[in-house]
Amino acid sequence: SAKANGRNATQVYDPKMPQTENEDRNIAIVLDQALDHDLVSLAYQPIVDVATGEVHAFEALMRLRGPEGTPIPPSVFIPVAERTGAIVSLGRWALRTACTQILKAGLAPKLSVNLSAVQLREASFPLFVAGLLSEMNLAPSSLALEITEGFDIASDPCVLEAIAALRNLGIEIWLDDFGTGYAGLSWLQSIDFTLVKIDQRFLQASATPEGERFLKDILQLVRRRGLSVVLEGVETPEQMAFLERAEVPLAQGYYLGRPVSVDAAASLKRAVPAAE
Ligand code: C2E
Ligand code: MG
Ligand code: MG
Ligand code: MG
Repeated sequence: SAKANGRNATQVYDPKMPQTENEDRNIAIVLDQALDHDLVSLAYQPIVDVATGEVHAFEALMRLRGPEGTPIPPSVFIPVAERTGAIVSLGRWALRTACTQILKAGLAPKLSVNLSAVQLREASFPLFVAGLLSEMNLAPSSLALEITEGFDIASDPCVLEAIAALRNLGIEIWLDDFGTGYAGLSWLQSIDFTLVKIDQRFLQASATPEGERFLKDILQLVRRRGLSVVLEGVETPEQMAFLERAEVPLAQGYYLGRPVSVDAAASLKRAVPAAE
């Protein structure tokens, strides 16, 4: 335990460490208090138009701090929040906050927010989103909801109904981390996605000729289905050059911009026209 490591040991949650039941319970307690005690916030990462360099959208990424200020990564707290159900209220908070901070404030023409399947199983979710947009007077097409192919939602009729209802409202549905889940290809056929985000591992693997060919095949598949595409995890100028060669329209990654606070996102946006 951290205590056994001496008084200087900072309690950083290491996702590679096996999680104990105790840690799980501690995180569940933090999640319970997160909204009341301001332990949760949003970071924003730009999704960039490759041809123009402009910010096409911001993706909202949830951040959580323990009571002592220790950051707890999403890979650790999101699964716990899904198990306890805390993701429902946290997810609603994230949607409302991101719509206010990005769309209402005019920081980008589009916003994407990550969604858990647990939220989609809530029958009232599409109505909640519709209410939010009309209350803030926002165009439904300015909002995209990202769904990860983590578990098989395509066989859950409630989830499929919710997705159809959201699409009917004019909201975009994006498939996140494409190529990493087990149901990926059938999802492309059965769900009315607007855009596919190709998981960063494929760009990483594209440094070899075989990896590059494979990525190009994936891009072609997505394009042929009439879907837009974002390549995730652009970290180097070489990868950026590949994107230009392959005419990938949209990209995201540390090379183009890390997730930042809303204030930094605002100045990032201002920096674009000011530099011209
Ligand atoms: P994601 O939606 O696929 O988000 C992309 C993740 O990759 C983010 O990690 C981001 O910081 C990271 N990333 C971005 N560019 C690069 C890059 O160039 N290189 C590398 N190595 N990483 C990059 P983060 O913020 O830790 O989030 C992890 C995951 O947690 C997200 O993956 C998403 O599935 C989930 N998540 C985050 N916020 C929320 C939320 O509000 N609701 C739900 N349900 N899930 C969320
Ligand atoms: Mg995402
Ligand atoms: Mg992703
Ligand atoms: Mg991911």
